[in-house]
Amino acid sequence: MGQLNESERYLLEQIRQGSAEGWSQFIDRYQGRLLAFARSRTRRSADAEDLVQDTLISFLRALPGFREESGFETYLFAILRRKIIDTYRGRKVGVCLLQDVLADPGTGDSSVADARFAAPDPTASWYARADEQLEKRKALLTDALREMIDHYKQSGNFRDLQIVEMLYYCQLRNKDIGEIAGVSEKHVAMLKHRTLGRLRARVGVEAPADETWMADDLLSAIWQEQRLSCLKRSTLGAYLLGTLEGDWQTYVAFHLDRLGCAYCGANLDDLKSQNSQGQSALRQRFMESTVGFLSRR
Ligand SMILES: [Zn+2]
Repeated sequence: MGQLNESERYLLEQIRQGSAEGWSQFIDRYQGRLLAFARSRTRRSADAEDLVQDTLISFLRALPGFREESGFETYLFAILRRKIIDTYRGRKVGVCLLQDVLADPGTGDSSVADARFAAPDPTASWYARADEQLEKRKALLTDALREMIDHYKQSGNFRDLQIVEMLYYCQLRNKDIGEIAGVSEKHVAMLKHRTLGRLRARVGVEAPADETWMADDLLSAIWQEQRLSCLKRSTLGAYLLGTLEGDWQTYVAFHLDRLGCAYCGANLDDLKSQNSQGQSALRQRFMESTVGFLSRR
């Protein structure tokens, strides 16, 4: 989920200048999907609303340091997920429901990619270039992973895409992946080996031979942070209308229903309930509680 588009950049400029109108539009655009995500991760509705309010305040506070390298949605979801993890310590907060069920219990909190790589607070360190070397490495690997995913999609190889997605986005075990995909555990291991070889070839001379340079946890942290295989809102809309082509419809259903991607699920819920009652009352609440954090010119 890439960089800001033109209308997002315009909105950002308005918000930076302290426009309450711009901020109200921003809340209106994102509150539904954020609430749906928070509700899927918390038991009480009031908790979900508080978490979204805190997320909006964090967004405004971190505005001067926002690097515009990811879209608003990806950035907001990352802040929100971090707040949920901090609020419910010890509870699994995977990026997909399947991960909460199947993630390897042997590695502690495996629902969160290794803490060395996953920035603890996206508003602070994700964008602060705290570690230049790591940032550079992440950027190279992000591009290589994106290219690989595009290639799978363009060549219609959704089966391998699904396996690699389960490996890195969901951090499942080879055994579980094999069962879900209907292939042997050995096939999963082979595909993983081949994937790493391709990534290494794409990154080229910049990658040292050191094994940890592209560790599993780093690849997972990147995939989860950037939501590399997540679906565009327009694709979700087409899915709802049933206008996607066969292979795509199947893949989207896999991502939403089988993996249970919490981000895309939240987006879908939001699309389904657009303009429902209650949304505007909540917008009022979020507006009143956050507008004081807008910068004044
Ligand atoms: Zn997704």
